[in-house]
Amino acid sequence: MNKENSSTLYSSAKKVMPGGVNSPVRAFNAVGGEPLFIKSGKGSQIIDVDGNKFIDYVASWGPLIFGHAHPRVVEAIIRQAELGTSYGASTELEIELAEKVVSAFPSVEIVRMVNSGTEAVMSALRLARGITGRDKIVKFEGCYHGHGDSLLVKAGSGLASLGIPECPGIVSSLAEKTLNLSYNDVEGVRDLFQREGKDIAALIVEPIAGNMGVIPPSPGFLQALRDETKKAGALLIFDEVISGLRVSLGGAQKLFGITPDITCMGKIIGGGLPVGAYGGSKEVMGHISPVGSIYQAGTLSGNPLAMAAGNVILDLLSEPQVYELLEEKSKKLCDGFEKNTQELGVSAQFTRVGSMFSMFFTDQQITNFESVKTCDTNFFKSYFNALLEEGIYIAPSQFEAGFMSAIHSDKEIDQTIDANLKALKVASR
Ligand SMILES: *Cc1c(COP(=O)(O)O)cnc(C)c1O
Repeated sequence: MNKENSSTLYSSAKKVMPGGVNSPVRAFNAVGGEPLFIKSGKGSQIIDVDGNKFIDYVASWGPLIFGHAHPRVVEAIIRQAELGTSYGASTELEIELAEKVVSAFPSVEIVRMVNSGTEAVMSALRLARGITGRDKIVKFEGCYHGHGDSLLVKAGSGLASLGIPECPGIVSSLAEKTLNLSYNDVEGVRDLFQREGKDIAALIVEPIAGNMGVIPPSPGFLQALRDETKKAGALLIFDEVISGLRVSLGGAQKLFGITPDITCMGKIIGGGLPVGAYGGSKEVMGHISPVGSIYQAGTLSGNPLAMAAGNVILDLLSEPQVYELLEEKSKKLCDGFEKNTQELGVSAQFTRVGSMFSMFFTDQQITNFESVKTCDTNFFKSYFNALLEEGIYIAPSQFEAGFMSAIHSDKEIDQTIDANLKALKVASR
């Protein structure tokens, strides 16, 4: 594969940006290569600056559930751009998107738009701390909730890929307020709440973990979180930045029938533009200014371009059979992968909820971050690079999820399964 132009751009990029990138995992550090620079994307494929074409399962790390440059999204953005890109004042588009979010998510009556998932989570924590008058936050090891200070403790893929255990620069008195537990460990949760429940403002969880690879919640896990937080007077925050519109129109909370107090959203909700959101009941969200006294603001929040794109995506997701189609395509792909590993005798574990999936190179059952850490990352590295040579683009880390779009064709999926077999053979050598 010719990477000459990407390589030249990477040299220039490194001179003016940290590591040449604006988000760390993009730098391909975990797979020992140089990052590709992308020129364009259309549907399920991207093309780099050397003209190499890839079938894309990164989907901009999740948002692009209908692929790149969907004609209706592009049209909506252009139409709005001609009318202006930002006013710092209210628009009808914001109401439309808020109404769609409220009708989709069972626990959300009121929603506030922000500009990223990180911002949504940071605001949700402030809200929970403000309401309860408590400081402590409980999270799970390997879950990622954006790069806010309170949550950048044992925080999943980005840091794991780069081998960073703890992040310098976080005030220790704040980090101390973050309590970490092991994902799916109900006993651990009960013990902690018994000891410290009265000091806990909120427990935050990815109801389907997606940032240490995909790990579904064990039966009863989410219900236990709901029960324990309720008993302690703490808030339950579902970080549905990935799962929100990925596994159902209404997220994991709808799929599993558990009602959180606050829901964080992002990624798909902005249709590929920068958006985050957080929402909950009228009562909970009534504490946010200007109604309540907990302050949170944003110059570009509810940005018209992003709202226009988000509205199209929610409309597309409301059409019949979308999630059935996503399920069917994803199952076909993962079944094909599994068959390949069995044929070659490669140790691998498969996890999937709808169109988010992982293949872990380990013989351990995957239930939490401890088990994820048993993966053979050298094997992944060879596999990743061989797959790239075959024209398949997956996230450059064992600890990231794969994402199917609604427009990957059967032919592309078959092509991917063939490429997977070849890449597994290369990595097995
Ligand atoms: C991506 C992600 C975030 C952070 O969102 P950004 O838009 O990158 O700030 C937060 N939580 C989860 C679960 C995510 O996957």
